Parts: sequence; C-alpha cells; structure tokens
Amino acid sequence: MSPKTLLLAIALLAAGALAPAAARQDEPPEPTVRCTKCKHVGRLPCGEHPEDECAFEDEVLFCSVVADCATCGGTGWVDCPKCENPEVEAALKRRREQSAAAAKRVAWVDETWNDGRERKDVLRKVETEHFVLVWEMEGLKIDKRRCSEHETMHVYAARLERLFADWLSTFGARAAEFSKKSVVLVWQLPNDQMEASLRFCNNASPRGVKLLGSMPRFSVCANKQNFSDDEELHRSLVHNVAHLLLSHQRPSMWIGDKKYGWADEGVSHWFEDLYWQKCTNYCYQEANTNVDFKGGRFRVAVRKMVAMDKQPSIGEVFSRTTNDLTLPEHAVAFSYVDYLIHLDGKKFDALMKRLRAKEETRDALQRVYELNPLQFEEQWKAWVLETYPTR
Ligand SMILES: [Zn+2]
Ligand SMILES: [Zn+2]
Ligand SMILES: [Zn+2]
Ligand SMILES: [Zn+2]
Repeated sequence: MSPKTLLLAIALLAAGALAPAAARQDEPPEPTVRCTKCKHVGRLPCGEHPEDECAFEDEVLFCSVVADCATCGGTGWVDCPKCENPEVEAALKRRREQSAAAAKRVAWVDETWNDGRERKDVLRKVETEHFVLVWEMEGLKIDKRRCSEHETMHVYAARLERLFADWLSTFGARAAEFSKKSVVLVWQLPNDQMEASLRFCNNASPRGVKLLGSMPRFSVCANKQNFSDDEELHRSLVHNVAHLLLSHQRPSMWIGDKKYGWADEGVSHWFEDLYWQKCTNYCYQEANTNVDFKGGRFRVAVRKMVAMDKQPSIGEVFSRTTNDLTLPEHAVAFSYVDYLIHLDGKKFDALMKRLRAKEETRDALQRVYELNPLQFEEQWKAWVLETYPTR
C-alpha cells in the first residue's frame, strides 16, 4: 500500500467506513471523496500544530498538548473545507467528544500535582485505552532519531499499549479484568520525581516508586543519571508496568511481599526477555542502581547453573519475597515463569490468580499444572538443558 492509500484506509477506518466485507457484498461500493486539497481523506491536519505530529492523536483518547486547541478540539485534525465527507466529519465529532470526556477523567492528575502549590502546572500527558501517561521529560533519541517531547510521549504510550496487548494474548486474559487504567509518570527532574512519588504513590523516592494492587501507578525519574538511553528506559517501564498489571488484574493483590517473589519478579523479567532477550531491572527496597547478573542474559546463566547442578533449589525460590530474591534466584524465577508459560499461558494466568488469592504456590501448581514441586523442577531442568543457549 502506498502511504496515501494507507492514510485513506486509516481515515476510513476512523470513520467506521470499512465494514466487514461479508456484510457489504451485495451493496454498491461507498463513494469515496475525490479531493486534491485533503488528498481524498476528508480532513486536514490542524494548522495550530506541527503537521507531522497530528497523526499521533489518532492513537490516543486524550493528549494535553492539543487538548485545549479551539480549532481542532483536541483531535489534531479539522474537516476539509473543500469537500463533503459526512463519515469523516462524524468521526471527527466523536473524537472531539471523546477528548472532552477524557479531559474530565484525567483532571485529577493535575489536581493531585497542583494541590496546595503556588504554581499551577498543566502536566504533559496522554490517555489511551489502558493507560494514563504523564511525560514531564525531554524528548529522546529513538531509533537514531531525535524526537520531540510530544512525539516521545506518544511513542511510549504506544509501547505501553503494546505491552498490554501482549499481556492479554500471552495469558488469554481479558481487558475487563483490569478495572483501572495504569498510571505511569515519567520525570526529568529529581525534585519533581520526589514530589510526584509522594503525591501519586504515597512514598517519596528519587528513582522509581510503584503503587501496586488496586491502584496501579509507577513514577520514575528518567534522566541520564538513571537511564543512559531510550532502550534502558523502555525496558525499565516494561519491567515495572508488568508488575502493575500482574498486581492489578483481578483479583487485585500485590503478591511480592509474600512468598511469591519468584512470580512477581519472574513475570516482569519475562517481558524484558520477550523484547530484548535481556533482563536488567531488579526490584529492591534499597535503591541499588548498579545491579547486574551475567549481563542480563538469564537463559545462558540459568543453563550454566543447571548443567552444573548449582541452581538455587525450588524450596528456596518458592519461599522468597521479591525483596529477598538473590540474583541467581531472579534468573531462576524468570526461567520458572518461562517454562510455565511455555507449557500453557492460560494455565499460568490461572496459577497467578490462585496466588493472588493467597493459595500456596505448591498447591496452586498441583491444581493447575498437576505437578508437585519436585516433578516441576525435574521437567524444568530437562527443558532448560534442551532449549536454552549455551552462550
Ligand atoms: Zn477535501
Ligand atoms: Zn499529542
Ligand atoms: Zn488543533
Ligand atoms: Zn521488579
């Protein structure tokens, strides 16, 4: 498809014009707009914003950068004055209403931030289907291209939605199992992070703080001292937002402070590994910025341990809280999760639900996978030796 037809398809899709083929077989084709002014799409980028940034707004429900624009009503687009296209017009109207409704939903964010402060800020933020993302951070170099703050925020919003979609498909979960949108706040200034982590997560911390369970939130200072580049920051958000999703999915409960650290950290590592084959984030109460285990290449490290029969025992791993896991146990926890998802992602989802309902790991494992811990460990070891790389 040429870029033009792609744009047209997107515009039609937005207007709800691409009905399933089966339903339309006997009907005459819809007339499409013939208009050189708008390249046949029936709408134009709003002149108040950089032209190439308007398409970002199609991906979100709300964006503070364009929200107050009287010309486009927070949609990034305006009706083409040269042609008639009722469906695109109707879609634009729906988007304006959507943006206005979302503005009310996210107003609490600025209220929480500004409460009792002299300076009233409007935080840069977007709302998507499953996230609210605050981006008080400079733009980043993404795929060798320096992006504006605005574009970077939209890129991260899309990445969060991708993680959410991968979560649902990995575990056969449903979006309705998440009653609240996860809130992610990314700050440039350490002082803002200190203030925000206290205001949004009830706990001031210079680096990153999560609120887990019924109210999923993560606030992080993402300056160069903490993250050297876009990939490091992205990986950290994947790791931490996976914690939010695991704890918030019904029944909501953070399991990392009980003896389920293996699952709590294992799942977060699993998503790091999914995208990068590398795990570099560890959750400790004490901020420890330079933790590393074998360069984050957990598969190689785990295979080596198993080959020498030097892996931490399953009894130990199943008894740790998130904070108590040693580095080798982090790697093994990842690998347990990896094996269980390999066996059946839907069963893994059922297992996590049982852990969140406080069932003992060994009982839940028996019930869902029909394995006792020793059987599980034996099968897992064989699978690791068979499938993990040696280097
Ligand atoms: Zn037109
Ligand atoms: Zn925007
Ligand atoms: Zn505008
Ligand atoms: Zn973690």
